[in-house]
Amino acid sequence: MKVSVVIPLYNEEENVDELHRSLKPVMDATGIEYEILYVDDGSTDNTLNLLQKIQSGDSSLTILSLRRNFGQTAAFAAGFDYARGDIIVTMDGDLQNDPKDIPKLLELMEDNELVSGWRKKRQDPFLSRRLPSIIANWLISRVTGVNLHDYGCSLKAYRRDVVKNLKLYGEMHRFIPAVASWYGVKIAEVETTHHPRKRGKSKYGISRTMKVVLDLITVKFLQSFSTKPLQFFGPVGLLSGILGFLISLYLTFEKFILGNDIGGRPLLLLGALLIIVGIQFIGMGLLGEMMARVYHETQKKPIYVMRRVITSDKK
Ligand code: UDP
Ligand code: MG
Repeated sequence: MKVSVVIPLYNEEENVDELHRSLKPVMDATGIEYEILYVDDGSTDNTLNLLQKIQSGDSSLTILSLRRNFGQTAAFAAGFDYARGDIIVTMDGDLQNDPKDIPKLLELMEDNELVSGWRKKRQDPFLSRRLPSIIANWLISRVTGVNLHDYGCSLKAYRRDVVKNLKLYGEMHRFIPAVASWYGVKIAEVETTHHPRKRGKSKYGISRTMKVVLDLITVKFLQSFSTKPLQFFGPVGLLSGILGFLISLYLTFEKFILGNDIGGRPLLLLGALLIIVGIQFIGMGLLGEMMARVYHETQKKPIYVMRRVITSDKK
């Protein structure tokens, strides 16, 4: 098996037929051995039935039917788990991505390990979708240091090993490139066509922006400090503690040497607060260190990723 195409579907009954009809010829034309995995993400409409009808005349097709709606990220994860291809292509099932772009991605996969689509002329409402996305993309680029124009584009291609060991939580699928680049994966971006949604409803609104920002904080933290949490919390704690100590020292000097009354000084409160905050941060960092060890060692999570081991065979 060379290529697996993974497509999440949640209540897309109006789109599945046309989706399959437009995807199939494109894949056949590539001449590459392929499979298509449709992930039914707990649809409550006719999506699953329609998929089964399509499947009866097509053996290249696998349907993964999730018990309930777990969300797009989970649907992708299910697809990754069951995909058998060396290259895994993902796209949306609402025909906003164009299957005709797949060969372009596959071509770039020859010397990259991850290719991400870029919906340069994105056909979504400006205020509720495109503007938040521009801001989010800028933010993600800045924070993760991976420079892509469009993290949200579902049309992507991955080398099998890039996604096979990935654990996805929350709305994390858009951060795969960021996580992958941390693993040292070679990434390329390519312009892809984007169509307006013709049928069915979008499953997201403006509220997603907030979730993306929160996920970004998680990703950044895990990326930079998951093996050294004390180095994250420590500096703040130390700074606060030292400042609090100096303030208290000064007040002690005033009280006992100069004989001034310090009971009503706001500075006293600040000093005490800074000391407590300092202790808390250091404590949190230390707890983090313990957690990091539990986290990595119980799950055998590596702190490095190997490409391959090269031995000199001297037999
Ligand atoms: N989707 C899904 N589970 C969900 C939400 C969405 O599998 O909980 C699928 C949906 O059917 C579509 C793709 O993810 O194929 C993208 O969703 P949508 O078009 O609503 O997102 P948008 O393009 O508006 O960002
Ligand atoms: Mg869509």
